[in-house]
Order: sequence, then structure tokens, then C-alpha cells
Amino acid sequence: MSLNGKVALVTGGAQGIGRAVVQSLLQSSAKVVMVDLNKALGEECKAQLDAEFGEGNCTFIECDVANGDALRDAFQSTVGQFGRLDIVINNAGITNEKDWEKTIQVNLTSVIKGTYLALEHMSKEYGKQGGTIINVSSMAAFLHSPHQPVYTATKHGVIGFTRAMADAAIQGDYGVRINALCPAFVDTPLLQSVEDEDNMGKFVKFKDDFKRSMTKFGVLQPSLIAEGMMRLITDTSLHGAVMKITCSKGIHFHTYEPMSA
Ligand code: NAD
Repeated sequence: MSLNGKVALVTGGAQGIGRAVVQSLLQSSAKVVMVDLNKALGEECKAQLDAEFGEGNCTFIECDVANGDALRDAFQSTVGQFGRLDIVINNAGITNEKDWEKTIQVNLTSVIKGTYLALEHMSKEYGKQGGTIINVSSMAAFLHSPHQPVYTATKHGVIGFTRAMADAAIQGDYGVRINALCPAFVDTPLLQSVEDEDNMGKFVKFKDDFKRSMTKFGVLQPSLIAEGMMRLITDTSLHGAVMKITCSKGIHFHTYEPMSA
């Protein structure tokens, strides 16, 4: 499906899953803003994408999503440059059990801020034209991970927040679809950080257990996660959905019992 005329903002877009999603969005003719902390990587990535898709389709904004003012400015610049916003992917994430408060800031607080900012620019509540938001969680939200307790907590939080916001969007008639995506292990630099004491602190001693899980469950390619993301973007029937992507089942959805007290 063509996304010609649509504008997307992707956090953590310079590498890994975010980078693959940016590529897919450009292939579908959307304009894309990559928001990332890593200036060198972001600029290199933009140069490669300009060569492939032509200049003027992709912009890089250096921004730490944990800095609320900088994130607000990134949204404002996106709309300033392209005139509108239709798709927001809150993807930036880290795995750092040593500086666990930073992990909560990046993986959960920034996803919440990113969602609220997206709504300011897309929701009918603010007189805007509607759009779609995808918050990146993880299969860690469905598993007990001894090596990543705080990461796991943030990814649970992303799902709870996303589903509650999806209900709010219906009741408040926001005209914005909000979904969550939960990949299993994906072949990106993030996976290497779990072997590093600087990231994992005392939980680094469980790294062999983590590697055994990777061997048992397998490792996905970022392109499959981008495929799932494109489905969440283009399938207008999806709202409040929790998409899981695993080696054994591919792209599928978590099912919930109807709510009861
Ligand atoms: P990655 O480390 O390969 O890439 C993350 C990108 O985010 C990098 O470009 C990095 O510079 C950027 N980033 C990090 N902190 C940032 C910040 N504070 N502000 C702005 N940008 C920042 O990671 P990835 O594997 O592509 O992960 C992307 C998302 O997918 C994360 O939310 C992660 O938790 C989730 N996820 C990853 C896996 C996996 O196995 N790789 C599995 C499930 C979920």
C-alpha cells in the first residue's frame, strides 16, 4: 500500500529495528523523520537513504528521547518541515539494568511522552486529521527474564499504557489508532549489550542463560519486524492490538479474555 503524502516519525530510527522500519516507510513513499541519539550513525544513515530514495524524503533529528523538551522540538520540527504528521513509531529502547532508572526513562516514560506528543499533532481532540501510533514493546513482556528485570517491567508497561490509550482514543474519538508490537530476539546491536557488565550490572552473570534462550527461540531479522510494523500501519482494523513476532509463529496477535471484574 502506498503511503504517499503521509509523514512518519520514528524514534531510534538510525539502527536496528528502527532503521528497517524507516527503510520500509520510504519504500512505501512516506516522508520519514528519524529521531535518534546517535548523531554519527543518524547522519550516515540519512546519507545512505538519500542515495537510495532521493533527497528530501528523509530527515535526521539528533535527539535524546529522554529529554522531554528535545522530543517536543523534534515533533515540532517534523510538522514544520513536512506540514503534517500521520505515523509515529515510539521505538527507541535500551537494555541497561545497571542504570535501571534510565531504562525506565527511555523505554517507558519516553514512549508515554511520544504518544502524548503524537496525539497533540494527530488527534481530532486537538483539531488534527487523525493518524496511527505504534509503541515497541517486546516478547520480554510475556516471559520471566532473570537477566532483564527492569527492561521486562518497562515492556509490560508499554503494553498496559498502549491498550489503555487505545480505549481512551475510542471513547474520546481521537481518530488515532494505537497498537503495540512485541518482537522476540532480533539481530541488532541491542542484543550484544546484554553481555556487557556496564549495561547489565550484577545480572551479567545470567548472560549464558540469555544466550541459551536465543539458541532455543531463534533470532529474527529486522526486516520481518518492519513487515509487522507496516501491517499495523496500514491495516485500519487494528486498534489496541498487541502484535507478537516470534520465530516459531511469525507475525501473530496476543489474545485477551474480555474484561471482567
Ligand atoms: P538498537 O540498539 O539496535 O537500536 C536502537 C536505536 O535507538 C539506536 O539507533 C540508538 O542510538 C537509539 N536510541 C537509544 N537510546 C536513545 C535515546 N535515549 N534517544 C534516542 N534514540 C535512542 O535496538 P533495537 O534492537 O533496534 O531495538 C529497538 C526497539 O525494539 C527497542 O525498544 C527494543 O527494546 C525493542 N526490542 C528489541 C529486541 C531485540 O532483540 N533486538 C527484541 C524485542 C524488542
